[in-house]
Amino acid sequence: MVPMSQTAQALGLSEAQAAERLTRFGPNALPQPQSVSLIRVFLRQFLSPLIYILLAAALVSLVLNDIKDAIFIGAVLLLNGTIGAVQEYSAGRAAAALRDLEEPHATVLREGVERQIDARQIVPGDIVLLEAGARVPADIELFQTEDLQCDESLLTGESAPVKKTVGEKQVTAFAGSMVTRGRARGLVTATGAETELGKIAAHLNRPSVSQPPLMIRLERFSRMIALAVGVAVAALIAVGLIRAMPFSDLFLMAIGLAVSAIPEGLPVAISVALAIGMRRMAAANVIIRKMPAIESLGSCTLIATDKTGTLTMNQLTVTDIRLPDGTCVTYRPQNDTDNVDRVLHACAEPGRERIAGLLRAAALPNEGRLVQDGNGWKGYGDTVDVALLAAARQTGIILEEATQAYPLLTRIPYEPDLKYAASFHEGKAGIRVFVKGAPETLIAMCDRMSACGTAVAIDREALIRQKEDMAARGLRILAFAEGEIASEPDGRYGARHLVDLVFLGFAGMQDPVRPEVPAAIRDCYEAGIEVIMVTGDDPGTASAIARDAGLHFAPHQVVTGQDVRDAEAEGPDAIDRLTRNARIYARVDPAQKLSIVLSLARNGHFVAVTGDGVNDAPALKHTHVGVAMGRKGADVAKESADIILTDDNFASIVAGVREGRVAYANIRKVVFMLVSTGAAEVVLFLLAFPLGLPMPLLPVQLLWLNLVTNGIQDVALAAEKAEGDELTYPPRDPKEPIFDRVMIRRLWHSTLVIGLGGFAVFWWLLQHGYEETEARNLLLLLFVLFENFQTFNSRSEHHSVFHQSLFANPLLVLGVLVAQGLHIGAMYTPGLREVLQIGPVSFADWGILLLIASTVLVVMELEKRWDGRRRTMRPATLATEQSRQIEK
Ligand code: ADP
Ligand code: MG
Repeated sequence: MVPMSQTAQALGLSEAQAAERLTRFGPNALPQPQSVSLIRVFLRQFLSPLIYILLAAALVSLVLNDIKDAIFIGAVLLLNGTIGAVQEYSAGRAAAALRDLEEPHATVLREGVERQIDARQIVPGDIVLLEAGARVPADIELFQTEDLQCDESLLTGESAPVKKTVGEKQVTAFAGSMVTRGRARGLVTATGAETELGKIAAHLNRPSVSQPPLMIRLERFSRMIALAVGVAVAALIAVGLIRAMPFSDLFLMAIGLAVSAIPEGLPVAISVALAIGMRRMAAANVIIRKMPAIESLGSCTLIATDKTGTLTMNQLTVTDIRLPDGTCVTYRPQNDTDNVDRVLHACAEPGRERIAGLLRAAALPNEGRLVQDGNGWKGYGDTVDVALLAAARQTGIILEEATQAYPLLTRIPYEPDLKYAASFHEGKAGIRVFVKGAPETLIAMCDRMSACGTAVAIDREALIRQKEDMAARGLRILAFAEGEIASEPDGRYGARHLVDLVFLGFAGMQDPVRPEVPAAIRDCYEAGIEVIMVTGDDPGTASAIARDAGLHFAPHQVVTGQDVRDAEAEGPDAIDRLTRNARIYARVDPAQKLSIVLSLARNGHFVAVTGDGVNDAPALKHTHVGVAMGRKGADVAKESADIILTDDNFASIVAGVREGRVAYANIRKVVFMLVSTGAAEVVLFLLAFPLGLPMPLLPVQLLWLNLVTNGIQDVALAAEKAEGDELTYPPRDPKEPIFDRVMIRRLWHSTLVIGLGGFAVFWWLLQHGYEETEARNLLLLLFVLFENFQTFNSRSEHHSVFHQSLFANPLLVLGVLVAQGLHIGAMYTPGLREVLQIGPVSFADWGILLLIASTVLVVMELEKRWDGRRRTMRPATLATEQSRQIEK
């Protein structure tokens, strides 16, 4: 590689060069595995036991010279396959489109300006800036590193991070590795398939797309039923053969049983419910990265949230500056520069000097940037850094000028676990160091503090009192220090030099709570979800913000990282006791989040935890629902998370929980609908066969019923809207089966009503001299009507049909009308009429059947009312009660 000039390092490529290279080298992406084609998806629809049975049936019909039946079965199969394929394919496409939203970005230097670009746009020759938490986007030859460490396990399998320091040897950061610490700059040498990662890409095992556990359970359920049906059918044929029934009759009976019992519509309807859930969550700023999260979000019993940016707006403004002697300056949060003079003239002469000194220590170890934007300024980088730069500029301290006076040698970049940032500069005499960071950390580094014109011995207690005073007002507090050290012959400076410094004072920053957060937290309590705060910030600040946000907690429930460490040393019992009590964790290291989260899980909680940094990744990965921040989150955090919030907002988690509960409820609705109608058909057969009655319904009629009329209605149930009370119930136990007590009881009841009702009608008709065919005609219509009513019954588990808006889900009303209309239409359609062996029914008969079918509505309504009475007798939300008591 040709050595690069200083100017090339400072400018990067021009946009024109970059565009030209992009066409020459192609986008910076690994070749994607072929996405599954529509045809594949279509063919896959035919890989199910039911379809095999039906194909066999079509063949037998053909052999028996019943060509019409064969054509009908074939047509229904094609139709069913097409509907299934289209739904599955569009659900898959929607999921892929959502995944695109989390495409990685990278910071490059182009035309002398740092730009955030889509990582696929990176070209060889680009200058890339790396920082902790980023996934390295290409192979990069580094020319500047600050405390850099990379995790190269993806390439080498070695999980210990590798230190990288620019020296004699060429140092490369490899695509696919992860920056775990520090900062760096370098030149892109290879992109896409040309990178080391690209060369071994074929051998990497890609993460497989995970299927929701619910889906797996239900597919297993379907297979179990298919097996049971197989056994039943075999028994039926055996008995029939012993009784010397004709084989073709037996065969038809067997197929009829199989068609009614196997819930063939289930997988498709559930994929649709999940896809709709995913889309609704995306609209609420929640992106699902791992499918199981849709289901698990609804089960959360506890949300452990960050403070900055999640509960607050992350719009920091310096409002207070305090010198060690107590001199205090209040800023007006404004973006005008003549505030400078007003601020500085407001204080006595020696104070001015010292405030300027403090702000210089705020600006020098700073990684933010202010860029003129029209009349105002726009900030880039960490919000703390930007706020400090803005305050400094308002007071006339300009970073560029300060760096001219004190040329930068090296720095220790800010990392959450350090809680400070420092920079080393060439001073007039010796080396000068400036530090900004958490008050406790800095106070420990100092032995003096600045006073009028000089430095006096540090009074740590007085400083801590000042800090607490500011924290009580909810201000985020940073402290500043500076020092002079002797120059080292090797020019290496680091943390060991941060001793015997002079303490300069504090800056207090305001970060208002997001306006929508208090309501969201109230929703959580209402829904039986506990909310706790885990922050690296000061306990005083954390408590003040928590109070503003409406969190329920008592003073003894505020603990610190030190308490967690002490408990850890004592053993798991101690930490579990701690986490049972604590609501606010302040001054914790990100690495402690994992042990907090694991302990909460041991205490029986189903935990959602938020995170944005590299060090949050383990907690995000090992909790039930890992929530990463879309805006300020590091790549590593996003990759470890189950869901991503595109707006970093706590309220979005709550919206996600609500949608998760809706999606789960919709799946239950679909299951209830399909299983109850299928089981009713089986009941019909089980009664008719031993009593020696003819086949109540023909296989083609069952096919029509299950795949056509029902198929239209069940998917509509998957699109049901929220019922409005999703957040008033306590969370569902994630281990609770779909077929819980209520579901099983209701299934029994509705199955018996439909099955017995149908059988009674069939029996009566035969007794009263109706032809077999005519009796089936009426029975089939009755079943379609039963299904119509059952669709409405399935809309809500708790609410009466009459209390729900009919048109909240227009699809459902349409589905019911189309199903009924289609059936009546078929009665009059030549061809179809003959295959289905049906014919027109008089209006009076239709009315009577409608009345009979409505019994299932009446029974379900009575049952809901009965259940509702019992539910109100139970305390609605236990958790709210508990938190209220704690507050008292
Ligand atoms: P939070 O949980 O609110 O996000 P952080 O972990 O980001 O808290 O910050 C912890 C502490 O680290 C802060 O209270 C502050 O004292 C210090 N700190 C935060 N950002 C910076 C920064 N850019 N430079 C120096 N110190 C910082
Ligand atoms: Mg933070």
